[in-house]
Formats: sequence, C-alpha cells, structure tokens
Amino acid sequence: MLIIGPPGSGKGTQSERISERLGVAAISTGDIFRANVKGGTPLGLEAKKYIDNGDFVPDSVTNKMVRDRLLQDDATSGFLLDGYPRTTCQVDELDDILASGDQVLSVVLQLTADDEELVSRLLHRAKETGRSDDNEAVIRHRLDLYHGQTEAVVAKYAERGILAQVDGLGAIDDVTDRVMRSLEQPVKASAVSGR
Ligand code: ADP
Repeated sequence: MLIIGPPGSGKGTQSERISERLGVAAISTGDIFRANVKGGTPLGLEAKKYIDNGDFVPDSVTNKMVRDRLLQDDATSGFLLDGYPRTTCQVDELDDILASGDQVLSVVLQLTADDEELVSRLLHRAKETGRSDDNEAVIRHRLDLYHGQTEAVVAKYAERGILAQVDGLGAIDDVTDRVMRSLEQPVKASAVSGR
C-alpha cells in the first residue's frame, strides 16, 4: 500500500503505526534520502541540494533508489511506501516495478489537512527537530509541489478505485483509528471493478 499526503500531514508517524499493525515493512523515500545525506554517500550528496530547497530529487535518481529498495527481501511480501510516487512519471515507474515482481497495489491512503495547519505544524517541528527543509519558504514550496504535482498522482489512484482518504487532523491516536477503520473497508473490491 501507499501513503500519500502533504508535508506535515503525519505520513511518517502514521506509517510506523500502520506497518506495525499490518506486519509489513514501512519504506519512506524521505528517510532513505536523509540517511544517505547523513552518511555522506554519493546519493546523499546528490539529493541534498534538492531536499534543502524543497524540490523533488530528479526521477532518474529516485526511481532507481525505490526499485532497488522494493527488491529487497523484506518488501517482497508487501510494504507500506511513504513518499513515492509524487509525480505521474513515478506512478508509471511504480506500475512497472510492481508488474515485474507480480505485485499489485491494494490501497492508496491519502492523509488530508489544511495548508495553514500544515505550515504551523512544520514550523513547530522545526523548533524541535531542525530538519533542514523545515523553514517557512521551503515548507510553502513543498506544499506548492504537492498541490501542483502530487495531487495528480492521487487522482490517478482515485480513477483506479483504490484511494482511501482520511482526515489527518486531530490527535495522533484518533487519526490511526480512522486509518485502520478505513482499511477495513473493501477498497480492493472496488479497485477491481473500477479498472
Ligand atoms: P515531506 O513530505 O514532509 O516534504 P519527506 O520526508 O517525505 O517530506 O521528503 C523530504 C524530501 O525528500 C522531499 O522534499 C524531496 O526533496 C525528497 N523526496 C522524497 N520522496 C521523493 C520522491 N518520491 N521524489 C522526489 N523527491 C523526493
């Protein structure tokens, strides 16, 4: 399954919880990039300039990284992918990766929240964790990219009938409960008939 949402919507927090409950690996492209930046790897050095500006890392780099990660043993029996795909080109790439591994997407979970709430959450997080891309100008740019590019990704999955939308506002536990309840709905059945 995928989890998609604007920056600050709580994707990382909810992914950890969902993956534990479902017993599948949680894979976050943002976390992989940040680990590489921290480790000073060639991938990290390449990605850092984009991340710090709030831009997408080029598809050529991101696609390869995701393909390699999804081929690892812990992902072959299911995974929860957070942060990918963010562009329609990445949707095509993921379709290809899944087809080559005989895998299908069960559900795409979208966490929703209002922009001003997101900016305020991220500015608050900036004081605590100091992520290099959590300053107001970069946050607003990341939000613009989400609206300009990633919402088209969400629309594609809605057309396929596999989209589940959950309100990301409120207490963390409440959001998790909403997510788990929405996953109990027969999203997959409608996906098959919706194709
Ligand atoms: P957020 O959703 O809060 O912006 P993430 O931790 O998911 O943060 O991602 C951080 C950064 O990593 C992004 O701003 C982008 O630079 C890069 N990144 C993550 N996933 C992708 C992707 N699928 N395509 C391109 N760049 C990505």
